[in-house]
Amino acid sequence: MPTLEKVLIANRGEIALRVLRACKELDIPTVAVHSKADRELKHVLLADEAVCIGPAPSADSYLNGPAIISAAEVTRASAIHPGYGFLAENADFADQVEKSGFTFIGPTADTIRLMGDKVSAIQAMKAAGVPTVPGSDGPLTDHGERTLDIAQRIGYPVIVKAAAGGGGRGMRVVHDEADLLSAVEVTQAEAAAAFGSGVVYLEKFLQRPRHVEIQVLADGQGNAVHLGDRDCSLQRRHQKVLEEAPAPGIPEHVRTQVTQSCIKACLEIGYRGAGTFEFLYEDEQFYFIEMNTRVQVEHPVTEMITGVDIVREQLQIASGLPLSMQQDDISFRGHAFECRINAEDPQTFMPCPGKVSTFHAPGGPGIRVDSHLYDGYTVPPYYDSLIAKIISYGDSRAIALAKMRQALDELVVEGIRNNTPLHHDLVRDEAFKAGGVSIHYLEKLLLGE
Ligand code: ADP
Repeated sequence: MPTLEKVLIANRGEIALRVLRACKELDIPTVAVHSKADRELKHVLLADEAVCIGPAPSADSYLNGPAIISAAEVTRASAIHPGYGFLAENADFADQVEKSGFTFIGPTADTIRLMGDKVSAIQAMKAAGVPTVPGSDGPLTDHGERTLDIAQRIGYPVIVKAAAGGGGRGMRVVHDEADLLSAVEVTQAEAAAAFGSGVVYLEKFLQRPRHVEIQVLADGQGNAVHLGDRDCSLQRRHQKVLEEAPAPGIPEHVRTQVTQSCIKACLEIGYRGAGTFEFLYEDEQFYFIEMNTRVQVEHPVTEMITGVDIVREQLQIASGLPLSMQQDDISFRGHAFECRINAEDPQTFMPCPGKVSTFHAPGGPGIRVDSHLYDGYTVPPYYDSLIAKIISYGDSRAIALAKMRQALDELVVEGIRNNTPLHHDLVRDEAFKAGGVSIHYLEKLLLGE
């Protein structure tokens, strides 16, 4: 059976640990790369080899492609797993990795490039029959009549979006024709400065959608499967806070249609690896917004309801194996939730790095904790504030939620402030308990509306 000889993990925190665990299960030796601030990270201590690749700031370490590739050369690694964030969706990095003779654990650089530009991604999806948001179907090319005509045809409110945008930045909602052209201009200028490309497009602004996404696996050899959906509507500033699988209340025929279209799209673009089609969902309709060409933070909820190990599949696909399963082999059972525990003030959401005096993870049947924390570990101030993911699984949504309530009660993180109190409230919230809240629900709740 082909296998990867040695995997370099180009990431940090919980996802680096997740990848390390999958490698160990497959008997693949590991190399951890880390910044000067991350010598004490759990996966760095557990990896077969560790290489310091630079100073604390991400730009000098986790975003430093040449330093990472040099570390792979020095340690004779054969493949690089990018995790999520950092260089995971950087097509140039994927290119450099492959050109230097290593396997990039993910899709080809061309696929990453295609999906990284939202305009080309939407066009490719539309061609494959994936439902998209009514919009300009391409970049805005003029600054007058045509743009106004397109918006009129779509109907207000519309949203101006940067083709190269990401992380919830480079978007502007327009409610009135009088504001459109100036909004387009400002978004173009902002996008040019922030992303190096001023290309913008228009979409209908959906007023109370849910965020529902479809997980796929494909081997680039003509096989693709879906692992169902996840609902990630509980967001603050476009950051997901609490996710679940499956998305509650989606009619089966609607689900079947969208998952089939995702599989077709994977086959048409020759997709390879794990990926996620992100949709807005409103009035029983799915609308594609973007594809993530990497493993996602919330992948565990899908693993819980399918029993498929997504990171293991990524490693096997990268080693050149065909998919180990067909669609009929995948069954969906029960329900799962994931709470993202962040080192941040529960009221102000300001990051709260520092030393963790005590970390006690919850347990019991159906509870999984993905976390790199341990007693005495210091959360550095330089990176994302995610410190733990608490995942619960139960036969039904109500049971999984009851288990999550209990798990949150058992969780102890002392020494640094964190958002556990927010999760404590959310899992008791009546609307959330009923299921199917929109992407605006959490922010309205926080404002006391
Ligand atoms: P990013 O790459 O920055 O995450 P997305 O295209 O995924 O950008 O959009 C981020 C978020 O912006 C969505 O999750 C949703 O909350 C909001 N959004 C984007 N497009 C629309 C739309 N057409 N209608 C309503 N909300 C939208």
